[in-house]
Amino acid sequence: MKTGYLIDMDGVIYRENQLIQGAAEFVQALFSSGTPFLFLTNNSAPTPEDLAVRLKHLGIAGLSARHFYTSALNTADFLTETHEGCTAFVIGEGGLLAALHERKIANDAIQPDYVVVGEGAGTMEKLTKAHECVERGARLLATNPDNWCPVSSERTRPGAGATAAFLEASTGRRAYYLGKPNGYMFFRARRKLAESACTGLDEAVMIGDTMETDIRGAVEAGMHSFLVLSGSTQFEDVGDYVYQPTRILQSVADLTDEIKTGKASNHSTGSVFNEKGFHSGKSGHRHQTDIFALHKPRPRPAMTK
Ligand SMILES: [Mg+2]
Repeated sequence: MKTGYLIDMDGVIYRENQLIQGAAEFVQALFSSGTPFLFLTNNSAPTPEDLAVRLKHLGIAGLSARHFYTSALNTADFLTETHEGCTAFVIGEGGLLAALHERKIANDAIQPDYVVVGEGAGTMEKLTKAHECVERGARLLATNPDNWCPVSSERTRPGAGATAAFLEASTGRRAYYLGKPNGYMFFRARRKLAESACTGLDEAVMIGDTMETDIRGAVEAGMHSFLVLSGSTQFEDVGDYVYQPTRILQSVADLTDEIKTGKASNHSTGSVFNEKGFHSGKSGHRHQTDIFALHKPRPRPAMTK
């Protein structure tokens, strides 16, 4: 039985600019045992090459672009598969621009088929242009639904979901959100993982620290999911969710031995995790897809002459 892993990064492999204890040994065990794996992130700003360099500096060597799948790549895959030859006006950074460029999706600031919103790079001028494109008929697409992303234990930054929410409010149109937990993200990631497994793949397991994206997406895609408590979720909060992970682990370090030996261990967390996860006290919706009140388009004001 060959198991492959889809692995979230922030809160699973590193936190802020520090590797999580045991993460390097975990990745080393994946390499040495020939276990297929793919890092999966909703951050659409970096390219896969950027992420490989970042992890190298953090102390994990041997990774290359093929080990990463971002929401920017997922967006490019989606547009290529569903609308050949489409054009887009893009609010986003290098990872998104490169992914669309590679798939020959042309930039169009006048009459694009889509406005594509990713992380960062949003200025009022760009938002105004994007707003006008949607008013002229462009469809609104976001690389991921994250309203904010952790920067450190005390700071967050606005995410692609927040930028898309701005345009939803101004245009009265609802965006479509790719990235986790969208099933298309998991479908394409699992396919890429299977392609990387030379001798086939029997099972794919998602490892992540966020219930709303990593665990929900895996459950909806019919996959096993392992929740790690090294990031944004605290043990006592897990019971609040309708969907549940297959296993709960303190961190990926709990999996290293079983990957090395190929035998399942009984590592799972049965007691309340005391270390405080970051941003646990932050109020508001973490992801744009959690806000159901925006389903109704904003009524347009009457035009008066
Ligand atoms: Mg995470």
